[in-house]
Amino acid sequence: MYKIHIIKGHIQYIYLIIYTDKILLVDCATRADLPKIKNYIEEKLHRKMQDIKLAVVSHMHPDHAGLAKTLQSKYKIPLLAHPYATKWYSGFGGNLQHVIDVFLAWYVSIKQKNPPRRMWYSAKFKIDYTAKHGEKLPFFNDWEIIYTPGHTSHDISLYHKQTHVIYLGDVVLKIKDKYVLPMPVTLPELMKESLKRLSETDIKTILLAHGGLDSIENSRNFFKDIIKRLNGQNQKMPALIRWVSFFPPCIKNIENC
Ligand SMILES: [Zn+2]
Ligand SMILES: [Zn+2]
Repeated sequence: MYKIHIIKGHIQYIYLIIYTDKILLVDCATRADLPKIKNYIEEKLHRKMQDIKLAVVSHMHPDHAGLAKTLQSKYKIPLLAHPYATKWYSGFGGNLQHVIDVFLAWYVSIKQKNPPRRMWYSAKFKIDYTAKHGEKLPFFNDWEIIYTPGHTSHDISLYHKQTHVIYLGDVVLKIKDKYVLPMPVTLPELMKESLKRLSETDIKTILLAHGGLDSIENSRNFFKDIIKRLNGQNQKMPALIRWVSFFPPCIKNIENC
């Protein structure tokens, strides 16, 4: 069986799923998080970076894919993401969105009063393993993919059926003790389907990129409550976020992704 270790990353939590012979990294953090992850693995766990047999990119945002390219090129760690992931920042609109998203991550970091760190990262990398809904993770067959788009076209959650644990990436956030939807929800219809799918999944523990680990009593009610908030969400979204979050080509035509 595995153990979950949580690292407080630059603006998000990073989860290490530790087995005696291998480590699963969830997810690929910000670019500023490399020393934290490396120190944790080497100093605290007395393991090697190469013990990470797989690094998951839940979606392409700077706090989830920031280290992907470095982990792949420097440490030869294979990456897993949804097949739509690399299309998100493609073309003119995608490139523009990438620049905007790095600025937004930088803004969040300042608001959290974190020390200034470099956030720029390359979003151009090859995915070693693409992951679709219902598939098992390579090297970690006890974990399966639940496709949970809505925040982006390609969000994936990781579900451990035996222990009822799920990593939700940015599908749900916990801010000031309240569960909220991410900002933005770029594809609200898909988000609704994702939350419905999650409400039909037997979940007892949630791992949030923004909010940490939590136990939930009844996953059906938990996600149904969140679906109810979906309708008001985009109206409540600050105008700035609304106007600067809709450039990726996949938003206009998800079939082409
Ligand atoms: Zn995100
Ligand atoms: Zn995030």
